[in-house]
Formats: sequence, C-alpha cells, structure tokens
Amino acid sequence: MFRLFAESLYAYELARALASQPRFTGSDGEARARELVVKELSGFGYDVRLEPFRVRVFEVERAALEVIEPERREVECSGVGFSGETPEEGVEGELVYIEGGDPLLVPSSRGWIGLASTRPDKEGWRRLAGRASGLVIAESSPQRGLSRVDVPYEWRERYGSLPAVYVRYADALRLLGARRVRLTLRQEYREVEAFNVIAERRGTKYPDEVVYVTAHLDSVYGVRGAVDNAGGVALAVALAKALSGAALKRTVRFALFSGEELGLRGSLAHVEARKDELRNVVLVVNLDVHGGALGTTRAVVTGSKSLKHALEFLAKRHGVRVEVAEDVMSSDSASFARQGVPSVNIFRVSGANNAVHTADDGPDSLHPLAFEVAGFLALELVREVANAEEVPYDREIPEEVKKKVDEYFRKRLGIYE
Ligand SMILES: [Zn+2]
Repeated sequence: MFRLFAESLYAYELARALASQPRFTGSDGEARARELVVKELSGFGYDVRLEPFRVRVFEVERAALEVIEPERREVECSGVGFSGETPEEGVEGELVYIEGGDPLLVPSSRGWIGLASTRPDKEGWRRLAGRASGLVIAESSPQRGLSRVDVPYEWRERYGSLPAVYVRYADALRLLGARRVRLTLRQEYREVEAFNVIAERRGTKYPDEVVYVTAHLDSVYGVRGAVDNAGGVALAVALAKALSGAALKRTVRFALFSGEELGLRGSLAHVEARKDELRNVVLVVNLDVHGGALGTTRAVVTGSKSLKHALEFLAKRHGVRVEVAEDVMSSDSASFARQGVPSVNIFRVSGANNAVHTADDGPDSLHPLAFEVAGFLALELVREVANAEEVPYDREIPEEVKKKVDEYFRKRLGIYE
C-alpha cells in the first residue's frame, strides 16, 4: 500500500497520537506532545535541545452573545484571543452590519456592535477599535464550526480593546435581522515560557551549511489541530526517522516551533537568537497542514525563480504532481524569509482544510495515504539539497518577494509597524 514514502504509516500514527489533545502554547497538552517528539527524535539518534522563549498567551473565561431585540435569545459563539474584554455584565448596543469593516459602512458614532462577514485586517481593526464596543464575526461557510483564533496581542496594545467573537454562518444569517445584542467576552492574559524543539545531525562535508525542516507543534486554543499541525510535526519526525541512517553532506536541523498560532512567536525568537548564523542556512522546508485524506500536495516557494524551477524539476523527474506557487506563507517560514532565508512550504489541500482552527480538526480526517506524495517529495528535496556539491539554485530572495514578506509582517500579520 505504501509505495512512495516508507514512513507514511509511522507519520500517520504519530499524527494521531499528537492530535489526541489540544496543544495551545504553554499548555500541558503541548508539553506532552513535546515530550513525545523529543523521545522519538532522541530514539533516532539525534541531538535534541529545547529552546525556551517567553510568549504571551490568553485564556478565554467566558464568551456569550445574546440578542436583545427584536426577541431575546442566546447565540453560541467563540472568543477571539487578545481581541479585548468586556465588563462582567457584557456590553449592549445596536448591531450594525459592516461587511469586512469597509470605511463606508463603519458609523462615526460610538457604542454599537459590529457584525462582520470576515475578520477585518489590521487597518480595519484599528478603525473599529476606536468606535465599536464589540465585534461579531461570521464564519466563512455553512460547513464550518466556530473558529478558535486570536489576533496579535500588539493590536490590543496599540488600538485598544475590541472584544470579538465568531458565530456560525447560519447564526450570522439570522443575526442580520437583530437590532440590539449583548456581548460578553472575559479573558485573561499572561506570559509563559514556551519551548522550540531543535534536533540536528551534522553534515559530513559541509557541516556549516544547514537545511532546516520545520513544523509548528502548537495548536490554536482548545483545538486538537490534527491537520494543523499534528500532521506536519509527524511528517517532520518521520523525515528524521527516514534520514537517521543517512550520511548527508550538509547539516540537517529539525525545528518544531511553539507559538506559531500566536503570530509565529517561536520561529521569530529562534531566528532572532541565531541572526549571525542564518547566512549559512541554504533552505527551510516548512511543513504546515498535513495528513488530510483525499487531497493534493502543494508547494509555496518563498525564494528565487531558480528554487521554484529546482522543485518543479524534482517533482517532474519523479512523476509526482505538485502545484508550485511563489508567495509568502502565513507560517514559520515567513520568520526565516524576513531574514533572507529561502523556503519551500509543502502542504496538503483536502476536505479537512475546511475545519482548520475549529474543534472539527480532529484525528478522524487523518489518513496514512495523505503522507505518501508529501513525504516522498519532502524527503527527496531535503536529500537533494543536503547532498548536492553545490546548492542547486540561487539562494537570494528577489526584491519583489522581499516586498511581499515585508507587507505580510506589517499588514496581514500586523505585528510590526
Ligand atoms: Zn498551521
């Protein structure tokens, strides 16, 4: 059954084990998952280190939404981490439909509660935080459960509190007929110590040159995160297993980051601490969203045209179908790109992706066959780059890609001004 990647079944079983509980940054669940991957990597003969860093986390105590007019009823909702908080009794106001936070639809008055069809971007958030008392965001599709997401804590600090919740699509449809609502969001913030897991194997001929394999170990709040990203972590560890007996010319370093869902915090801390060594990193292979059955494997290259061509050549030579795009990925590879390190993001697109960041992203959508093409391609890519006498592409990140990376951090992620 497994013809392409010998560790498909191993990856699947590890993914299932990791996805048995939520792994929110700094939580006990994350600690248990970390212990499991440390044990596995050590067992394959790697030197494993824990890299601590400080990170802010939130805890939602209560999220509630009540329609007041035209009739009284409760609507189930989930709180957005770091968005803000209401008094114990909540805030009451007129419900105003603002679509995506379009300036034209945002009233100049204060004290109302917005109903948005999508989460506003950083600019939209800034505009709303000064005026709205709260925000209700509709899920993007009728098939989706409630998102358990957060906004960067910097938004709360810069623009003030905008307590926000998600509601299901069908509930949002009914809310279009509501006039007044009461929104309650109680959450606490604190700083914790979190850990990246770093494992490496020194290269035999060019040990100073490094190929990274990265995946984020954390999940969003209260979600088991099977495809996002127990699958990616399991695949990274499966690659470590597959390469454990191989002598490679370059150093291969596995990095399993924490705090990704809170704004790439673990990888940002990692690149900050190793700024001087990053010029020796030839490639980052980032694995985020894996294991979803019945799908296709895709790649996003953040780097040169020749890197994209090298990957396409590899895929064609072996006869695996992979759609390759050039872009910035909203994942840990962006932290490396910001420091000039190119990356290939390999991920799955499947029916399971619809459940990402909701309680429905559980182990049932995982399947061993989902690791076949993705595992094969990632392994061939790492082997090829780690063993080539010369790096087979231009390592420089072109200006237009650099611009996209910069824009990602300023606007989309919005953690730098
Ligand atoms: Zn992810």
